[in-house]
Amino acid sequence: MADYIYTMELRLTPNQQRGVTLVQDIARAAGMNVYLTGGAVRDIISGLAIRDLDFTVQGNPLKLQKDFERAGAVIGGDDDATKTLYVTLPGSVRAEVSSARTERFEKTGKPPIVTPATLIEDLRRRDFTVNAMALSLNPGSRGLLMDPYNGAADIEAKVLRVLHNYAFVEDPSRLLRASRFSARFHWPLEERTQARYDSAKENNYIEYISDAAIGYEIEQLAYEDDPLNIVRVFEKEGWLKVLAPHWSTAKVDAPGLTQLMKARQQMNDLSYAPDPSAAVLHFLTAKLNDKEASDIRKQIPRRDLAEAWHDLEVHAKELAKRLSGKEASTPSRTWKLLSGARQDLVLFLAVTARQQAVALKIKNFFTKWRQVQQKIPLPEMTELLITPQLPEYPKIAEDVFMLLLDGRLRSHTELMKFLKPLAPPPPPPPPPPRRGRGAKAAVAPAPPVAPAGKAPLGKKKGKAEVAPAVPAIAAKAAAAVKGSAKPVAKPAVVAKPTAVAKAAKPAKKAPPKKNSASKSPSSKKTTKKH
Ligand code: ATP
Repeated sequence: MADYIYTMELRLTPNQQRGVTLVQDIARAAGMNVYLTGGAVRDIISGLAIRDLDFTVQGNPLKLQKDFERAGAVIGGDDDATKTLYVTLPGSVRAEVSSARTERFEKTGKPPIVTPATLIEDLRRRDFTVNAMALSLNPGSRGLLMDPYNGAADIEAKVLRVLHNYAFVEDPSRLLRASRFSARFHWPLEERTQARYDSAKENNYIEYISDAAIGYEIEQLAYEDDPLNIVRVFEKEGWLKVLAPHWSTAKVDAPGLTQLMKARQQMNDLSYAPDPSAAVLHFLTAKLNDKEASDIRKQIPRRDLAEAWHDLEVHAKELAKRLSGKEASTPSRTWKLLSGARQDLVLFLAVTARQQAVALKIKNFFTKWRQVQQKIPLPEMTELLITPQLPEYPKIAEDVFMLLLDGRLRSHTELMKFLKPLAPPPPPPPPPPRRGRGAKAAVAPAPPVAPAGKAPLGKKKGKAEVAPAVPAIAAKAAAAVKGSAKPVAKPAVVAKPTAVAKAAKPAKKAPPKKNSASKSPSSKKTTKKH
């Protein structure tokens, strides 16, 4: 019984991990079994990027709507027929939570008859073997992989295989899904699957695709990393006009889309994670007329995405206006404005801004101004004890950065003049030497060694007196002042030995003790030294 929890935790982003825990806790509190299913499991096992999370619960997830909202998730829409909830979990994690079900197709083109089912029955209704796996998130079986169709082997072989011969006939949207996955992963269809695909295509089964499936597949294009490639394949296969009769690659703003993906990558490299989906749809349909674009928009099941796409240009214009006004009259103000703005809008504007001044501000925000951060005088700040341990540190560091951005702290003298009054008072002098017992302590035998990770017995505070682990920024600063004559952020570390040493002084005057400890070479050395 392989345990995939470790693999899952390794492969998910921290936000996705939190998302899994959240869904698991909500489902468990409602008494529903919950599984990670579909593409998320496929991507965990294959090592490919995990784009979104699909959960299957035994029960009706539509009843969990309030619990999700209370936990900070946004409900993007739902599908009553399949009992599916489209949610965005905190940290912009896209997820679908659906009910375990069977789908019985009685007639091509007609919606299936949906019945609640077990998880294994639910896996049987899926499209490809690689998408028909589940990972249990339930106590007792957490981490257990359910793979009744040997999807893991097909992932290994890098092929797409349908679960049965009628897959494309039952649901022709699987033809689009086959093309999409094949184009995305560069995995061919397995031989028999290819034969079924060709036959379904030849027999024009696609005309039976449901409106709901069309909307769903349009939405999926928005999440692709290379949507243009998928649209080209769709056009070649004849699927694009199925999604919308007037859609073609000629209606796509290809250079805009390419720039968008490039800008998104740049933002990702700087640790921003803008959601590009609305902008992708904007560029994919850029040359369709308003009515055609609006018809496409109406079909998208996630209402929040449809709205974001609809409002994209208006909101981007508002941001551009703010960037041209007083609110962005200096680099520091612009920095603050862009740092607080919606990242998807910044991304979109980075590609579409018409005014040169606005485009330049965004460009500077991502390039030139970031280099100014290097000018923050970390070594000097550390010498002045302005370190991350100080509660005011973030504010001081930000103020320095803003002043540097605006060119208001140019010279070293100006910097020091600004920083010195902000330095905390020096640490208090070490406590006065203790008499009697303190002296004894200095010559007493060493306390027993504590087990690893625990404080030594009778010295509960021992470790706490050493400065806490230094965050990256301070570590950098410490590295920068390495070799400097002045001690840096050391007082806390040296306080203890100094106190002990001073306490040891009277011991010299005390009559020599006749115990073995006082004669030990080390204790002698200590007494001598001080
Ligand atoms: P990705 O999100 O990476 O595009 P995915 O496999 O997660 O891929 P979704 O469209 O999110 O795709 O669907 C989630 C899961 O639901 C799929 O993995 C598959 O198991 C199932 N599924 C979706 N659409 C169909 C369909 N038309 N027929 C059968 N199963 C489907």
